[in-house]
Amino acid sequence: MVSKNQKEFLFNLSKLGLSDFKFTCNQNLILGEIALEDKWQVEKLLTQYNIGQNISNLRQSSMSCVALPTCPLALAEAQRYLPELITKIEPLLVKHKIDQEDISIRMTGCPNGCGRSYLAEIGFVGTAPEEYNLMLGADRYGTRLNQIYKSKIKEPEILQELDYLFGLYKKEALDHETFGDFSFRKFFN
Ligand code: SF4
Repeated sequence: MVSKNQKEFLFNLSKLGLSDFKFTCNQNLILGEIALEDKWQVEKLLTQYNIGQNISNLRQSSMSCVALPTCPLALAEAQRYLPELITKIEPLLVKHKIDQEDISIRMTGCPNGCGRSYLAEIGFVGTAPEEYNLMLGADRYGTRLNQIYKSKIKEPEILQELDYLFGLYKKEALDHETFGDFSFRKFFN
């Protein structure tokens, strides 16, 4: 979901006419075709609006579908809720000293999976209002799907499970083993 601050940044950048905008399939935005001599103006705006700074790795790799209120098939929130949930997950990563890991996290409002939640190392699939299947075991490169680890759980249990899983990962992961590979080996192999 684009914040007011981000909208203002994009509006002011577009007014300068220095860059084009490329939207990627991972919901990222690439600012392209910026002339070298104009780069400082874009960097100034990025700093002014605090874009791309002080964002956790988890938040950077997060993705969701539109879900409520846009999609009539949605059973639960996704794009409006995932940023809030990430704010609660980030301290758990810090607690277990794994906040520098590039763990992918995605959420969709129903099992159709438009936000490709089945390819996330931590996937959430909405099943009812405020209720999600927690999916684990995918790899972050999109070559292995995740599987259901816990069905139909709400936020308190989600945070409790992730706290447990991050602790387990920190304690038992092999050298350079990603969270997705660890979850797959531990629970589904
Ligand atoms: S995953 Fe479901 S809720 Fe999300 S956009 Fe697709 S159909 Fe709608």
